[in-house]
Order: sequence, then C-alpha cells, then structure tokens
Amino acid sequence: MKIDESLLSSVQYVKNVGPHRARAFSRMGVRTIFDLLRYFPVWHIHKSLITDIALSKEGEKGFFTGKIIAVDEIKKPGRNVMKVIVDDGTAFFTWIWYNRPYLRGEFKEGRILIVNDIVENTKWGRQIIGSSGSYEFLTEEEQGFLKCGNVLPVYHSTRMLSQEALRNIFRFVVPKFSLICPDIIPAEILKEYKLIHYSEALRIMHLPVSLEEIEKARKRIVFEEIFLLQLFFNIRKKALQQKIKGRNYNTEGSLVGKFKEKLPFKLTNAQETVIKEIAEDLISEKPMNRLLQGDVGSGKTIVAVFSLLMAIDSGYQGVIMAPTEILAEQHYSTFKKFLDFLPVHICCLTGSTKSKDKKELLQKMQSGDAHIIIGTHALLEEEIKFKNLGLVIIDERHKFGVLQRAKLGCKGFFPDSLMMTATPFPRALVLTLYGDTDISILGEMPPGRKPIETKWVFEYRRQELYEFIRNKVKLGAQVYMVYPAVEESENSNLKAATKMAEHLQIDIFPEYNIGLIHGRMSGKDKENIMHDFKSNKINILISTTVIEVGIDVSNASIIVIEHAERFGLAQLHQLRGRVGRGKEKSYCVLMTGWRVSSVAKERMKIMQATNDGFKIAEMDLKLRGPGELLGIKQHGSLDFKFVNIMKDIDILEIARRESSDILTKDPLLTSEENKLLKDCFMEYFKKELEYASIS
Ligand code: ADP
Ligand code: MG
Repeated sequence: MKIDESLLSSVQYVKNVGPHRARAFSRMGVRTIFDLLRYFPVWHIHKSLITDIALSKEGEKGFFTGKIIAVDEIKKPGRNVMKVIVDDGTAFFTWIWYNRPYLRGEFKEGRILIVNDIVENTKWGRQIIGSSGSYEFLTEEEQGFLKCGNVLPVYHSTRMLSQEALRNIFRFVVPKFSLICPDIIPAEILKEYKLIHYSEALRIMHLPVSLEEIEKARKRIVFEEIFLLQLFFNIRKKALQQKIKGRNYNTEGSLVGKFKEKLPFKLTNAQETVIKEIAEDLISEKPMNRLLQGDVGSGKTIVAVFSLLMAIDSGYQGVIMAPTEILAEQHYSTFKKFLDFLPVHICCLTGSTKSKDKKELLQKMQSGDAHIIIGTHALLEEEIKFKNLGLVIIDERHKFGVLQRAKLGCKGFFPDSLMMTATPFPRALVLTLYGDTDISILGEMPPGRKPIETKWVFEYRRQELYEFIRNKVKLGAQVYMVYPAVEESENSNLKAATKMAEHLQIDIFPEYNIGLIHGRMSGKDKENIMHDFKSNKINILISTTVIEVGIDVSNASIIVIEHAERFGLAQLHQLRGRVGRGKEKSYCVLMTGWRVSSVAKERMKIMQATNDGFKIAEMDLKLRGPGELLGIKQHGSLDFKFVNIMKDIDILEIARRESSDILTKDPLLTSEENKLLKDCFMEYFKKELEYASIS
C-alpha cells in the first residue's frame, strides 16, 4: 500500500483555501492535504465543559464564552491599557491587556469569545489579567450550535485562517479525503486493542458527533504517535548496538584523583554508587544513555563534575546543558570554584553571550582548548562544533523536549549522555519518552539536612509573616519571595514581583537590602543579582519562577511563595528545594487568599504533609487534570498534546511492545506490508535520523 498521491498535493487547490491561506498554512507547517487533515483542533468544546462566569472559581482554569460588550483603551506614551468586558448573561469579567494595542482590532464589541483562562475574583470584580490562557472567536451560529449540545471543534486560528474559514475547509476536506488516508498501524494490532481506523479518527477530530467518540479518536492518535516514537527509539538502539563508540576512558585519572582529595565534603553512599555506575558505562563499548533521578538537593551537580573530569582525563570534551541562563551561570561559577586548582578550562555559552565573546568561545570549542562547556539551548545551534565531544550532560532533563538530546548528540560521534532530573517519572514513562535508558537513583540526601517546615498561610497573616522574616534576617537568614507574574496591573490583586520589591524595600524592610530578579532582565543583570544574593549583600530576593530549578544558595533558609494556589505540585516542590540546603532550619511559606479551589487546597495540604519528592510526584500524577503532561515540553516533530499520562499509561506500554515486535519480525521494515509504515516513519523522523546518523 502507498499513500494516495492526491493526499500529497498542495493545500492551495483545496476548496476555500487558495494561495493566501495556503501561505498562512505553510507558516504552521501545513503543506499537503495530508498535513491539513492532521491540523487538529486545540479544543473540543461541549456545553458541559463551559463554566458560567458567575460561577468562576478562584485559581482554577475554565472555559468561558461570552460577548464583548465594551472595550476601553487608555493610551499614554509608552503605555497602553485595554479593558475588554465580556458578558455571558450570568455575569461579566474585565479582561485587562497591557501594551498590546495591535489587539484592539480583534476585540470588537459584539464579537463572541471562548476563553480558557483563570477568572480572578477581585475587589474590582471579576478579571482576567493578560494572556496566560488562550482564546478564540466564535460566530453566533457556532455559539448556538454549542448551546444545542453539540461538540464544537475549536482550532488555533490566525487572521488569515479564522475559525469559520477553517471549519469551512474541513467540512469539505474531511469527507472527501479522510477515507483514502491509509492506516500505518497493522490491522491485527488495531483489532487486538480495539483501536479505530485512522480515517475514522480524522473524521471524529474534525467533525465529531459526541464527546465519547472523541476519546476514541484521541486514543488512536496517541497510539500512533507513541508507536512511531518507540519505533524510532528501537531503531536507534539497534544502530547503537552495532556502533562501537571507539572512545577509551580512563575513569581513575589524575584530575579525578586530585579532585577527590580536595573535595570539601564526603560523598554520600548514593553518590559513590552512582559515580561508579557512570564510570562503568563510560568504560563500556556502548555509548552511555543514563538518567539520574535524585530529589532536589540530593547533590546531582557533584556527580556531573566527576563524570566530566573522567571525560577530560581521557582527552575528551564535556558539555553540560541547563534549561535557564541563571542555572547555567550558577554551574559556571560552581564549577570554576570547585576546579580552580586543576588545569581544566571551563566556558559558558548562553543566549546572552556577546557575539564577540561567542566567536572566541566557538573557536575554543572547535580547537579543543575548552574542556568543559556549560550552557543553555544556545548549545544546540548549528554553528556550534566541538573538537572531540565525549560526554553530554543535561541538567533538569524534564525541562527539555523529547528529541532535543538527539540534536546535541549529532555534535559528537554518539557521545555518552547523562540526563539529570529531580522529577521521578515512573519507569514505564521514562522508557516511553526517552527510549532505552538506564536509570540511577540518588536516594539519599547529604548529611546534616534539617527537614523544611512548610506552612500554608492566608493573606491576613501577612504582617505576622513580615515580622517573622524581620527576626530571621536579623539573625543572618536570607529569604526568597516568589511571585507568579512580573508586572503588576493597576487593578489586579496579583502582587507582581516588581511592585512588591519596591513596596517591601520602602515600606516594610527599609533596614534590609531587597533584590529583584526576573526573566526579562538582561543576562548580565541577572548574574549580578545572583552574585549579590550569594555573597549575602541582598537579604531578601524577590523573584519570579526563574529561580525554580537548580539554584543553590545554602544560606537562604526561608522561601515565601505568593499566590501558591497558582503553582502545580511539582513546581512548588522544586521551589521549596531552594531552601533546606544549609545548616539552619528552613521554612517554606505558601501564601494564598482565603478562597482557593479544592484542587489547590489539596496541593497545599500535600506540601505541608511531606518533603518527599517521590511521594509528591505520585500525588501530582493523581491530581493533574486531563491533557496535562508532566512538564514535558515538546519541541520536536512529535506533538504530545493529546497524551494524558494517567489515562494513557496502558497505551504507552502496548505501543512500546508492539513496535519492538514488529522490528523483531522485520528489522529493516522491508516487507511489503510494512512499506507504508516505513515511508511514514522516514518522513516523520527525517531530521532526527540524520542527527543520529542512522540510515
Ligand atoms: P541537586 O541534586 O538539587 O542538583 P545540588 O547538586 O545543587 O543538588 O546540591 C545541593 C547542595 O548540597 C550543594 O550545595 C552541594 O554542594 C551540597 N552537597 C552535595 N553533595 C554533598 C555531600 N555529599 N555532602 C555535603 N554536601 C553536599
Ligand atoms: Mg541541580
């Protein structure tokens, strides 16, 4: 079987498309009719999923639909505030936008919106601030359609491709083309697991009749994505087994020895064990592919340092990649401090590196003068080349996309790779998302840690909290205060970091130094602030979630999380992990308003009850709503927006087993019955296969 030619023709000639819309489609990666059929709706809305504005719950995301009844715009030089009033007949909310004058044309009185966001109850009434959620416009007809109990697919639309236009296109395309879409999953598998045919899944996605059938279609699509991904991992594994990495490691070289001697503390047993496991992997003929799981504060960094020294002792370069600039900078200064007495040249490359410095850095990497290269995503750029890359370490692995590692991998000849994460995924999930991976666990904290005391506190006790902080800082403690957003909006109850920093400095703690750090600051500014905090020049650091992962300042012993109801469990636990790293007893204060949703309440209680990251991850899985992934961001060609870890764990298992069965029977997918599967697979993973140099 082959893909029907007509499916591969350009969307331009489809009814209602034409050259302009075809161009708009191509910007979204849709070129052929086959692509178009897989341009899935972002939501399937049914009236049972819509919340009355009058019943909006604090801190809980919901779908709201209503009419714009007024728009008010305040224009001042350098500042533009737009207020959009949306009414659904039960109540209204005010939607406040800052400095987005270009949206004025969209928000016209009388238009009907569907919004997926949090409506806050403030003393100025119900509000949505800014753009954390998403919205689409509906026609009156569509709203009526919804009200009658039908399921409405809602697409991601643009100016050229409105909901209406998209719907008209699909109304024509789906009946005409979905039936000739081949199914790449072998028929026996479909039958055995009661999966529907692909063409049926396409029809349901775009022209659904009921909510129930959407679940079937979703399952089918998830199965296919996971199946293909597993095929990729399996093929990569086979290719790896045939390749011998041809690197000789000396894991007991002089750098490792000298470093061990000078280490300011004794390694925990868990660290010793893991370092041994890594050494064995490095010596082995096969490239290392290991995931290191260890709770926040368990001491993963030092394991990374040892591994990198083993690589350098053996004449190779090593890379460590972090998800944020602040963390990369921190690693850079930690590594420099740890290794300053050794002949090891360390470099740091982030998005903020000046182009002049960058040029020099690139040269050093290419010539081999740079031994350890620390950086962010910037390391994935094409122009980055190494002389002799041996080891790649990825810190806070869960913050990166599933296929990003393949990309860094292409920069060396199958480098050994170590991924580190504090998020303990179930094993089945690790295998599914990262392929064939060995797992090490750092199940022991460095000695002398005192448990962190966590308290959920309501807004009315704020003054008391300030006095508590005042007394602790007097005794030398340092404090983080974390906020969910950067800029305050005049009418909001959201005390954003910037305003709060001013307020605390002037009105509350004039005697102390208050610092502010957030993602919109320049790299240099962030670096300076972190440096001042580390050297205790700043007593209280106000921050957004930029400090969420990895930051290590052992003297900081109090963290206050404002609007704690807005954070997920994993995030709260990560944030809390910023304290409890020193000798002093540490505190984590979760601050919320009086009214919080039941799910948020549950989260606060769990945080108070346990410090154990593994338990928290388990609870987190249970509490998460549908469609939410474990913070696994996706950047590759695969898109897991349909995967729901709780519901789909069975599918993941089945897809994994079946894909490996197929390869056992037909290792190169050369048989006639697998031809289609192979073609699709090659198309899907073109880039990744190149990166991994598999043909
Ligand atoms: P994480 O696993 O969260 O990345 P870090 O590597 O940042 O943790 O380590 C947390 C802190 O514990 C650091 O200050 C580090 O120097 C310290 N640390 C690591 N290992 C030990 C040890 N064996 N004994 C004492 N302190 C340690
Ligand atoms: Mg860390």
